Amino acid sequence: MARPATEELRRRNRSALLDQLHRHGPQTRAELTEALGLNRSTIGALAADLSQSGHIRETTGRSTGSAGRPSTLVECVAEAAQVAAVEIRSGLARLSVVGLGGAVLERAEAPLEADIEPLEAAATVAHLLDGAGVADAVAAVPGLVEGPIVAYSSELGWADRDFGTDLLKATGRHWRMVDTATAAAVGEWSRGDAGGSANLLYLHGGRGLTAGVIVDGRPRCGSSIALGHLVVAPEGAECRCGLRGCLEVEMGASRFAEAVETTTVAAWMGDSVARQTVRRSGECLGRALGAVVTATNPDEILFGGWLRELYLASAATVRSSLAATTLPQLRARLRLRTPALGAEGPLIGAAETGFEALIDDMR
Ligand SMILES: [Zn+2]
Repeated sequence: MARPATEELRRRNRSALLDQLHRHGPQTRAELTEALGLNRSTIGALAADLSQSGHIRETTGRSTGSAGRPSTLVECVAEAAQVAAVEIRSGLARLSVVGLGGAVLERAEAPLEADIEPLEAAATVAHLLDGAGVADAVAAVPGLVEGPIVAYSSELGWADRDFGTDLLKATGRHWRMVDTATAAAVGEWSRGDAGGSANLLYLHGGRGLTAGVIVDGRPRCGSSIALGHLVVAPEGAECRCGLRGCLEVEMGASRFAEAVETTTVAAWMGDSVARQTVRRSGECLGRALGAVVTATNPDEILFGGWLRELYLASAATVRSSLAATTLPQLRARLRLRTPALGAEGPLIGAAETGFEALIDDMR
């Protein structure tokens, strides 16, 4: 039976208030009243309700003005809802347990063997999680991810693998799955400095290259982009995916994943071979980006993973190659830059994916 309209409205407001505190941190009732456009008595009733359920508490906080008394702040109770976020990458699994409000309550990591089997990776995740009681769990995997399926990951060497079920069997709980680049994009939008971006493209450099798009803060449906397998040289070398001349082969992704700093520092120091490598990779990347920009029309591109160092060392080359392969109208307002959250982006974004679902479910 449908809920009465007043109950619907109360649930929606409750969820909006919790979302506001989770995203923006502790606030006074007056600030909440203004931010949510609700009246003071409604905010008071919602705050009482959420205090009762243990999601928020009121504390004595910052003082207002020079002679002002400290104001009462409303804040999330981190322990009230926790999300496990896991990032799987070549050689390493990382876990963060994040509390409501965004505080990291626990971190753990464990090495993974090169070319690890999915079942072993899932067992490692179970070991890291160690039975922690969390309300939601999200795993970020580099590659093309469709629901629980890792359709293709050149970094891990997995294809058409139901890793969601592997995780379920190993840990006894349901996992949401997201590709690493989309997770990082969500992280930058919600906790980094890309919140003003309407159409954000995040490029992630690992042993493979992936990209994710988020539109108005939400992952675009089927947002994973197999950036590494964009063919940039049809007569080029064979890729492990079976195609020829894929971007990640032409750029030497696995070499950069190992030693991007060695190469970029040598290029800065004037080493001619390193400069040539950096320039050629920057040209390849810029050309490939031309196709991606033409197809997705982003307003911002972030270069994450080892692409960050490569971009910093070859920004002018990337920009001129991009300019040669896109319409000026598509790049007039396009910003290219590096991510604010650095290597933490995928874990932060994976956790935010879980919180978004949890807070949505309260509606
Ligand atoms: Zn390929």
